[in-house]
Amino acid sequence: MTSAMRLGLTGGIGSGKSEVARRFAQRGALLIDADELSREAVAPGSPGLAEIAHLWPAVVRKDETLDRAALAQIVFDDEHARENLNAIIHPEVRRLAAQRENLAKPGQLIVHEVPLLFETGYDALVDASLLIIAPYADRIARVMNRDGIAEDQVKARIAAQMSPQEARSRATYVIVNDAGLEQLLERADEMYDTVLRAGRTE
Ligand code: ATP
Repeated sequence: MTSAMRLGLTGGIGSGKSEVARRFAQRGALLIDADELSREAVAPGSPGLAEIAHLWPAVVRKDETLDRAALAQIVFDDEHARENLNAIIHPEVRRLAAQRENLAKPGQLIVHEVPLLFETGYDALVDASLLIIAPYADRIARVMNRDGIAEDQVKARIAAQMSPQEARSRATYVIVNDAGLEQLLERADEMYDTVLRAGRTE
């Protein structure tokens, strides 16, 4: 592998992708977090925020910060508004991701952690994808515990995402996270080696 290989890491809410991402970073991967970039894309002074202010002036506060709750309210049941927002954020996230990729060393694995990898078409920008799947009941319990929210809320969030079955049919690699954390990290280590090997033979 002469140039760096890009892996898209995805999975539904509470599936365990951040744990796997962290492990890959410990093993030497360059981690690019799409959630972090989408916040950076609308940071004060950013071109993204200027475009949002142009379309929805009321959601940008006087101190140049974004009122996320107000924006979420606007796009919640307005598909056209959601498309407009995505048309601002997605290209900006990709531009920032490309900037980060320039930091990769030759042969380093670049991992893009993207919750909506397939839904947003981000998968077209990576060489391979890794999906993390966990049992429904485990995901509910973990997210309730981690975020302190009610069971119904977790179920609604899961229902709003692509089904694991559909994601599975699109992913290059899958890790099933159906045991303890230690086993997950072991599976992540094996997967890291597999992905690197595949990258070398490309
Ligand atoms: P989100 O999309 O909601 O951010 P995620 O896919 O990144 O979720 P993680 O944050 O990695 O999920 O995992 C959710 C929580 O469950 C974390 O607190 C994590 O430590 C824990 N967890 C993940 N897998 C296991 C496991 N196999 N055993 C015990 N705890 C686990």
